[in-house]
Amino acid sequence: RRIGYAVVGLGHLALEEILPALSNCKKSRLAALVSGSPEKLKKVAAQYGIGAESCYTYQTFDQIKNNKEVDVIYIVLPNGLHKEYVIRGAKTGKHILCEKPLANTSEECREMISECFKAQVKLMVAYRIHYQPHNRKLREILQKKEFDIPKFLEAHNSQSTANADHWRHKKALAGGGALPDIGLYCLNTTRFVLGEEPVEVFAYQYSTPGNPLFREVEELVSWQMRFPSGVIASCATDYDVHESRRYRVNCRKGWINIEQAYAYKGQRLTTSKADGKMKRSEEIMLAENNQFGEEMDHFSDCIINNKKPFTPGEEGLQDHIIMEAIYQSAKEGRPVKINGIASVNNWK
Ligand code: NAD
Repeated sequence: RRIGYAVVGLGHLALEEILPALSNCKKSRLAALVSGSPEKLKKVAAQYGIGAESCYTYQTFDQIKNNKEVDVIYIVLPNGLHKEYVIRGAKTGKHILCEKPLANTSEECREMISECFKAQVKLMVAYRIHYQPHNRKLREILQKKEFDIPKFLEAHNSQSTANADHWRHKKALAGGGALPDIGLYCLNTTRFVLGEEPVEVFAYQYSTPGNPLFREVEELVSWQMRFPSGVIASCATDYDVHESRRYRVNCRKGWINIEQAYAYKGQRLTTSKADGKMKRSEEIMLAENNQFGEEMDHFSDCIINNKKPFTPGEEGLQDHIIMEAIYQSAKEGRPVKINGIASVNNWK
């Protein structure tokens, strides 16, 4: 049997990526829809063959409890609504997949993890990069020390946004600006590929004065992270810069670079390696997958075989703890230590 998903929130990500991906999954299928718009609900339900009995509004959401076709509730709402719907979802007894960032704050994440634990349901944060072949390959190269040990890493994730009225520019709904939305990819990918946790961060933050996009949330965050092995990561994110989604890991005997690293597709993995006195450059060609489909099938597999997901709620919490240290560092103009590790993942 394929695991049934109730998709909550029919915005861009749900309509353009998640629902089409579900149609092609091996272990997952669409079972129900939740939306505040009756017209959209009717149209999308007809398109995907979902009956009226499996269509819900935000008011009737809790009745999913009685829908035997639904195993997982997938929250694809603005960040500021994740906590409410994850907790309400957990109380229905269904497993929860929640979009990134897990919440607005680490405190919210803790509450969500605790409620899912109490309800005995699994909680996974929808981090795509952990299921993406080029990023996984880079991590494998580092693990095998093919280029000797890593020394420093540079990561950027930037794009331009235009609509100041969108929830992404409202503090209550977004939690923050570029950092929790797109800078988060630099953070969680760095942790994923290095397989260690930062012990200290130092950051700068900037927003162009007078730009209405940045009335409530920040534009630019640039930060450094120090890891126990000695690796330093330099990351930057900006909401008003031509798109750039890349990172490079610089090792003693070579470097590994991914362009379009955090994009839905189009990744390019290139390397340069010291080979005696020569330099050898190579592009490693890998087949692309559908990251959303892979991620959902992974969660379904965890449910079928009762395993802990690769990216459980604690992964989302760990990133919030680090992001809070980043904001604190930028505000106070000093390095901030990170105490304690929330992460209890399987991939280290
Ligand atoms: P979106 O604005 O396109 O969609 C949000 C949906 O939530 C809309 O259908 C909207 O009607 C609904 N909604 C319900 N209550 C709302 C309210 N009070 N205010 C505003 N909208 C409300 O956003 P999106 O790009 O689909 O993002 C949704 C979530 O997915 C966010 O958490 C975002 O960070 C995440 N996301 C993840 C990825 C990824 O690659 N994993 C990519 C994009 C977005």
